[in-house]
Amino acid sequence: MPNGGSDCCGTCWFNTANEGDPDYRKGPPPDEVRCTIRSLEIETPFWTYCANHPHHNPARVEVPIGPVYVTDGYPYTRRVLEQSPDTEEIRAGLLDLLGHMEEVPNAEYPTPTELDEEVIKQLMEFREKRAAPTLRTIIHFDPLAAPDGDNPFGQNRVTTVALAVEALVCIEGDSALDEVETALRCGLSRDAVTPDVSGGILSRIRQWWLRKQANPDDQAEDPMAAIRYHAVLGLKHCGSDRARILLREATNDPHPEVAMLARRVLTTKEADT
Ligand code: SF4
Repeated sequence: MPNGGSDCCGTCWFNTANEGDPDYRKGPPPDEVRCTIRSLEIETPFWTYCANHPHHNPARVEVPIGPVYVTDGYPYTRRVLEQSPDTEEIRAGLLDLLGHMEEVPNAEYPTPTELDEEVIKQLMEFREKRAAPTLRTIIHFDPLAAPDGDNPFGQNRVTTVALAVEALVCIEGDSALDEVETALRCGLSRDAVTPDVSGGILSRIRQWWLRKQANPDDQAEDPMAAIRYHAVLGLKHCGSDRARILLREATNDPHPEVAMLARRVLTTKEADT
């Protein structure tokens, strides 16, 4: 199996060569391999991926979930090969999946192409306004919620919450700045003196963070940085003075990548005015 991940078309039940089985075909491959749900010819099945693969989608949802990705070089990163089509049926399917997301994640095969995250990213790409109320719910998930039972891959909801923040701001712009402001404080010790306007999430994060920050200089101990990072990404879509103030504050973020991103976004905004 190639090292790009076993969640590839080669092992997908939507690959015509596999005739509906979640395994790869033994014997010579057919002349043409196609994805049955995307009307797409797959040239390199063992290096091509999407979130509809059975590793991510055991319910066998047939609505295309996000783009198709390919890995075509080392290191084994995934780049978009084919964007998702955009139809009302697909949007409705993604909204349905979004509405069924639960705070406790599944113990899913860990790759850059996980189902819930691809749903949120695609709705963000579509600027789908109907997603906003559910994104607000997801923002209040406990980022550290873990799958029941064994959690061999150490999964939690940090990335899901981070993407939900970015998607909400991308869709609503300055109307989502309250949520951005809350997200920009996730995991920071100054939360301890800042009013919690988050409906409780900050209190939960704060409790955890204050336990963990015995070594505040250890960046590896800053899991909430991903939420702050995506909140800064979301600020690209805001044009108000308040957004600029938040960006300036974020340039002082203790995580160097968050601070650097905030400086880049701020510089771009100032060059545009
Ligand atoms: S594109 Fe996705 S759904 Fe289609 S065969 Fe490949 S992994 Fe399966």
